[in-house]
Amino acid sequence: MTVSAADIETAARDAALAVLAAAPYALAGAARAAIAEADRQMAALATAPEVAEAVAGAACRAGCGWCCHQVVGITAAEEDLVAEAVRALPGDARRRVRTRQNAAEARLRTLPVERWQAARVPCPLLDDGRCAIHPDRPLPCRAVLSADEAACRAWHAGEDGARIPLVAAQRRAYSAAQAGLAQALAATGIPPGPVSLTEALSLALPG
Ligand code: SF4
Repeated sequence: MTVSAADIETAARDAALAVLAAAPYALAGAARAAIAEADRQMAALATAPEVAEAVAGAACRAGCGWCCHQVVGITAAEEDLVAEAVRALPGDARRRVRTRQNAAEARLRTLPVERWQAARVPCPLLDDGRCAIHPDRPLPCRAVLSADEAACRAWHAGEDGARIPLVAAQRRAYSAAQAGLAQALAATGIPPGPVSLTEALSLALPG
């Protein structure tokens, strides 16, 4: 099945707009709607045998967090989604996120913005190799589905030319959905972002 990135963007935008029309401050709900739309679109894309094969052969598994060592750009709606999920964590898990957030922020503060990605700073939500808010992770995290864990490890180690070998359909679906979500926010007068996930966490967990 052929679904273009523009189609996905429009579908995610409309899904988010429908939520915001009913409840203008339901930003986390708008993010959930865009994610659900991306899931639907990805399921449609995966009816193509080559996409189904790529998804089935993906290397991603629980406990593998090589790709979670980068700065993730999120929209204002995903910021609310993440904040809700983090605030719902048990107290000790929340404290661990806060400690890692402080460490990540301190590290990033020493670097010019253009060197943030290469620094491989772990996401503060990476808890013993697992995402602490996996069901509510933002769209850029969902866009990452790797074909080869060894390549991810090489990317993490900073080896020359190494990159995370993404499943193209997955990246297209969730990246386009984030673009659609940003459009919906902008259309309703909400500055869409992006903000970095690490910065967003400092607002979600003040003090
Ligand atoms: S939010 Fe979760 S999935 Fe995304 S980078 Fe952080 S730990 Fe990884």
